Amino acid sequence: MKPVRVLIVGQGLAGTLASHACLQRGWDVHVVDSGEHCASSVAAGMYNPMSFRRIVEVWDARLHLDAMLATYADFESILHDTFLHPLPIQKRIPNQEYAALWNSKCDQIPWIEPVSKLTTGAQIGPVKGGGWVNLPKLLVSWRQHLTSLGRFSRQKWTPADNDANWDAVVHCRGVHERFSPQLETLDIRANRGEILTIGTKGHTIADDLIDNFGKWTLPMAPGQWRLGASYEWNRTDLDPTAETRAFLLERLQQAHTTDVRVDVTAHDAGLRPVSKDRRPAVGPRPSRDGHFVFNGLGTRGVLIGPRWAQHLADGMAGVNHWDPQVDPARLQMTD
Ligand SMILES: Cc1cc2nc3c(=O)[nH]c(=O)nc-3n(C[C@H](O)[C@H](O)[C@H](O)COP(=O)(O)OP(=O)(O)OC[C@H]3O[C@@H](n4cnc5c(N)ncnc54)[C@H](O)[C@@H]3O)c2cc1C
Repeated sequence: MKPVRVLIVGQGLAGTLASHACLQRGWDVHVVDSGEHCASSVAAGMYNPMSFRRIVEVWDARLHLDAMLATYADFESILHDTFLHPLPIQKRIPNQEYAALWNSKCDQIPWIEPVSKLTTGAQIGPVKGGGWVNLPKLLVSWRQHLTSLGRFSRQKWTPADNDANWDAVVHCRGVHERFSPQLETLDIRANRGEILTIGTKGHTIADDLIDNFGKWTLPMAPGQWRLGASYEWNRTDLDPTAETRAFLLERLQQAHTTDVRVDVTAHDAGLRPVSKDRRPAVGPRPSRDGHFVFNGLGTRGVLIGPRWAQHLADGMAGVNHWDPQVDPARLQMTD
């Protein structure tokens, strides 16, 4: 049955994209968010069609990019603001072996160009098709829009809630998905990340591209960059640490030949919702009719989220088959 009234639980990136896709289909949508930890509010919002470890395109890069560009353009047109910032990416080339591999792949991969040299002597691999989305700004702006339409409440959904008013409930709860005693447990893990916002008055840090030196700098405003990020599996607290701050600043300094003096204006920590096979969870909730899941956006939510939000809404409307590779049931835990 095609849903008419849809409740979206959570307004991070997943809930933002899901509510947008459901509204596009003319459904009566309401979004609740409890105001708890939200990874999307600290994310850098970077998207990159390449994976640098093996120099390969990321999963379905073209499909994801096309859906992504269309979706954020639609947000911009609805909200009369700019969120999407396409930017070149430069990958620092660590050694000659990597340079040779990079150059050998340029003919097959549309996003990369041959290695070139900076005036400092450093070798870089240019990447097209990347950029960033200002997620904190998008989330606030979309929430204001929903509120003005009477479609948003600051409220916590619980499994004991009476959902009889809704034809469909979509769970977009990020890492909070794990803590729902009355629902089946889905294996959505928390990958903890820390990120800095820095300022510098000099001209040391590139301000017209994303500079990837293992870690990366992303210019977000004149004189302001994000420097990130860390990846940790064995912690779930949200207290930024002096060690990670020092580590990120040290990596930044190592990537530059001159002294980099920066002011750290913000230092945030967040929990990325990640599945064991690194694919999102999109589809019906195994244990409850009329309930759906949109989660597991992982480290590339900005890029992959828009395509799967459309898949979610099409699946709910019954106009496509659920893709088994993102079936939430594969993440169901038995104990
Ligand atoms: C440091 C860091 C840097 C990152 N950088 C990037 C990047 O550059 N590019 C990229 O693509 N991704 C990045 N990510 C990953 C990205 O943030 C995630 O993929 C994405 O934000 C996940 O969105 P989500 O909506 O699933 O979860 P969240 O953003 O965590 O949102 C979940 C929401 O659900 C709400 N909620 C939970 N339970 C309930 C309930 N019971 N009732 C009501 N509301 C509820 C919470 O309040 C929260 O607002 C980064 C993450 C971190 C931590």
